[in-house]
Amino acid sequence: MHELSIAQSIVEIVEEEAKKQNATSVNKLILEIGTMSGIVVEALEFAMEEVIKNTCLSNAKIDIEEIKAIAVCEMCQTEFETFDLYSPCPKCNHLYSNIIKGKELRIKSIVIFGK
Ligand SMILES: [Zn+2]
Repeated sequence: MHELSIAQSIVEIVEEEAKKQNATSVNKLILEIGTMSGIVVEALEFAMEEVIKNTCLSNAKIDIEEIKAIAVCEMCQTEFETFDLYSPCPKCNHLYSNIIKGKELRIKSIVIFGK
């Protein structure tokens, strides 16, 4: 499962970060995931629950924020919100656009209370 390996690498990054701060547990983790990242949020949530067991994240609250995908029309440069790769430009109906936002997967913040 794709999301499981993503969850594992997220946990590795967070554990590394917690270690740097001499923290034994992380209270909260906020992730940002673009709607065009190819990641199924529900699947990632499920995978995270499995992967955080017995790590510094085992009691952490995990928030996942979705980033809306934005495309730019190749013809008229209009920016519009898109949900797939095949949405035509709402202004000129041109079929080709470039996704400029919404493919990201990143750790927005790692919250550690006390040490
Ligand atoms: Zn256009």
